[in-house]
Amino acid sequence: MVHFVGAGPGAVDLVTVRGMRMLEKADCIIYAGSLVNPELLAYAKKACEIHNSAEMTLEEVIAVMEKIEAFGGDTVRLHTGDASLYGAIREQMDLLDEKGIRYDDTPGVSSFCGAAAALRAEYTLPSVSQSVVITRMAGRTPVPGRESIAELAVHGATMVIFLSASLLDDVQAELLSGAYAADTPAAIVYKASWPEEKIVRCTVGTLAESARRAEITKTALILIGGFLEDRYERSKLYDPAFATGFRKAVKE
Ligand code: SAH
Repeated sequence: MVHFVGAGPGAVDLVTVRGMRMLEKADCIIYAGSLVNPELLAYAKKACEIHNSAEMTLEEVIAVMEKIEAFGGDTVRLHTGDASLYGAIREQMDLLDEKGIRYDDTPGVSSFCGAAAALRAEYTLPSVSQSVVITRMAGRTPVPGRESIAELAVHGATMVIFLSASLLDDVQAELLSGAYAADTPAAIVYKASWPEEKIVRCTVGTLAESARRAEITKTALILIGGFLEDRYERSKLYDPAFATGFRKAVKE
């Protein structure tokens, strides 16, 4: 059987307990070597066969899975963060379906959660934003026109931009053309949860320059929005005057 496992953002102890157990049992691990922390491979048993998918095509990955399946073995396909975001997991599942190979999926801590933790931030602050837009700049993989950063920026919602650290001049121009003011707060989080993590707080107008100064060109998330400021309203959930199914309102 094939087990897709989210490796988490980087730190070895941010893989889930279930994911770790699957790594311990695997006969083969195919890991996304460009971003997955190789220290996670220490969970593997001695006889485990290990492949780095950064050097492989989709067909080569599937061929390894088929080979392991042929003797009833378990393959862990280890993706960075959570595999449902920019993980190219669907095309693997579809090929496995065609071949009648069973699989399951163990979620991971996405890097956008790792970045919020690094910033000690909450993306959904009352009266600031209650939505998180997860997107990327078009690169070699195109982005549908109606989802351009300029279009999405119109909403003023919290924005998390993946896969775009090398395109920050364009990101900045799109954000500004899409209704964000130059002084809108922004942050760049490089390698969240890794020892070499870097956090740069800046504004939309200084995004590209700030990344250049910090020498960040990859493995970073760009975060935009008022959630990075100090103004917000308290939650209703923990408001003493607000009753919930679990708690009576306290009268003043
Ligand atoms: N599935 C992954 C994303 C894979 S796409 C997830 O859920 O996080 C790869 C992009 O993710 C990188 O270009 C970068 O934008 C982001 N990324 C992955 N790990 C990161 C980390 N530890 N810190 C900051 N950004 C990260």
